[in-house]
Amino acid sequence: MEKNKQKILARIEKACKACGRSSSDVRLVWVSKTQPVSAVESAIAAGARDFGENRVQEALEKFLPQREGIVCRIIGPVQKNKLRKAVLAAQAIDTIADLESVQKLEALCKEANKNLEILFQVNASEEATKSGLSMAEAFDFLNNLPEPERLVYKGLMTIGKNTGNPEDSRACFAFLRNLRNKLFNSSAKFSNFTELSMGMTNDLEVAISEGATMVRVGTALFGARVF
Ligand SMILES: *Cc1c(COP(=O)(O)O)cnc(C)c1O
Repeated sequence: MEKNKQKILARIEKACKACGRSSSDVRLVWVSKTQPVSAVESAIAAGARDFGENRVQEALEKFLPQREGIVCRIIGPVQKNKLRKAVLAAQAIDTIADLESVQKLEALCKEANKNLEILFQVNASEEATKSGLSMAEAFDFLNNLPEPERLVYKGLMTIGKNTGNPEDSRACFAFLRNLRNKLFNSSAKFSNFTELSMGMTNDLEVAISEGATMVRVGTALFGARVF
């Protein structure tokens, strides 16, 4: 795992250098979905702090009780009836794309006396199999969100195009950066709207050159997924 980590950190470093960014501005999210808790422990020993899980149930099993300094992010879509458990397990949900979930999460966080980071997912590749706000509706939807109370609107998340050619995702990533900038400048509601979670094992270089602040890497860190 140490070797895998070094390889990924070197790729991030190189990509940042190539576009004049500092690698300290790009966080590595370790996607531990389907991996056992022992793999999470090894990752923490190797220096991992931010983890991504697709399923709420798995997040509960692996990330409760919460470890000091460790962040569990939910990076898969969450059904409404799982939001309560998501609030329990995670410090961030990166896939929000509807008002009802925002309202429910706000109420749940008040009840739990907890703050929660939210990223909004945009389907910037416009692929039917992916969830998220459509590019056409995203600005109006976000601009009309209620003032956050216990939620912190932190930014946007997207999944690039799955064509095998990372350059095909560049326009998606650029769209996300422009949308974040527009919202950040639009209202105090978005004063914390700085994050762009985009780029995975195959396309993290392109994502970084378009401004990614988080890249989500699974296979290249943990090896093949266990199903
Ligand atoms: C699984 C997953 C990843 C990690 O993918 P790898 O190809 O294993 O690096 C990143 N983001 C999301 C949303 C995922 O579901």
